[in-house]
Amino acid sequence: MEIAELKQQYIALKAKADAAWETAKPWREALDLALAEFHAITEEIDSLMDNQELVGTCEGCRTPIFAGERCYHTTDGVDLCADHAPNASDALNQMQVALAEDDWADLEWDSREELEAAISQVQAAIASNGDYSLAT
Ligand SMILES: [Zn+2]
Repeated sequence: MEIAELKQQYIALKAKADAAWETAKPWREALDLALAEFHAITEEIDSLMDNQELVGTCEGCRTPIFAGERCYHTTDGVDLCADHAPNASDALNQMQVALAEDDWADLEWDSREELEAAISQVQAAIASNGDYSLAT
């Protein structure tokens, strides 16, 4: 390609690029503003959280759960705040269904006997204390 032709093509393409850049100007400015706001807010969150440790977010209500707060962590990694933590009766129900359906292999018990023993323990705890939240 001759230099004169190269220059012409460069000039034409540069003009197109400049026009595209100009067309995108309002969005670039809006994006810059949104990003600045985002960074300001995340810095505010960081300073707010300076001495706090976030241990999870409640799957039930999306509220953050901080270290030291009562909450419940399921064996499959779900975090629940104290308000949404299951009660012992919920766990008992789940254990009884697992036993009845003989579908407990993925749960925390190694044998049917262990599961039966755990059910008895929870039944006894509910009998003496009433139903209670599993949040700790
Ligand atoms: Zn919750």
